[in-house]
Amino acid sequence: MKTRSFLTACLAVVFAIGATAALMSCKPAAGPGDAGAHKLKVITTLFPLYDMARYAGGDKAEVSLLLPPGVEPHSYEPKPTDIIKIGDADVFIYTGKFMEPWAADIVMRVTNKNLLVVDASQGTKMIAAVFHDADEPAGSLDPHIWLDFDNARIMVKGIVNALKAKDSANKDYYEQRASDYISRLAALDSSFKTTLAACKSNEIIYGGHYAFGYLARRYGLRYTAAQGISPDAEPTARDMANLVKQIRKERIKYVFYEELTSPKIAETLAGETGAKLLLLNAAHNLTKDELDKGVSYFDVLMRDLNNLKVGLECQ
Ligand SMILES: [Zn+2]
Repeated sequence: MKTRSFLTACLAVVFAIGATAALMSCKPAAGPGDAGAHKLKVITTLFPLYDMARYAGGDKAEVSLLLPPGVEPHSYEPKPTDIIKIGDADVFIYTGKFMEPWAADIVMRVTNKNLLVVDASQGTKMIAAVFHDADEPAGSLDPHIWLDFDNARIMVKGIVNALKAKDSANKDYYEQRASDYISRLAALDSSFKTTLAACKSNEIIYGGHYAFGYLARRYGLRYTAAQGISPDAEPTARDMANLVKQIRKERIKYVFYEELTSPKIAETLAGETGAKLLLLNAAHNLTKDELDKGVSYFDVLMRDLNNLKVGLECQ
């Protein structure tokens, strides 16, 4: 932070010219001496990163979300204004190259030498993308790392390390906030473990893309999605027929649908089988209304758990 050096320089000017006018100019309305005037500027791509960074940063950081509200992130194409925004930031945080293949290109085009770039997937345990789209290269990893709470903890640590590196004066503050967030992740994990251990069904049928591989694996659930690891490709008629067959055979009562895209796949499956619909939100991004209300990552995941509880008939 530049507060001290500015004040020193300013006072030196005051002493040198000894004028009251100069002293006045040392304290502009929102001068660097005011608390919060030089908040750390942090830009995040997806909602989970935004939630982690804004919590860890508290009132010392100004955290923003690059994706516009309600926009589906897999097919996002960054705009020239995004480059300008990032060029003006202290820290830029993205999920990883499998989630935002466009991030590397943005970073290359930004000329801001002050910028600290954080790949939040560093140190996380990634799983193979078991359900491929035809246009995805072999060896792709599942990018939805924030839906494993151990990975989420590692992501928070990567983020807080960046905040501390850029603003060491407030490192204890950031550390404490991150540690609170990590405790809440542990509590969330316990809730999932307890609730999902006592269900009649362990099978999630998802009328969306393959976003919950990490979560299903963590809690021993079976998971079938109508689409691959991104929502771009439509399921074929044969895929749909197989899902309908599976729902009937296993007597599945609920089909889950995803956020931010049309629920028509899930609606078709429900229409064919008489299953009911429930939302399972992978939290890539939120709607404008949710963002305005300050909905958190924990709010989204707890709502998912409640819907899983209904859909899988847990006690
Ligand atoms: Zn996704």
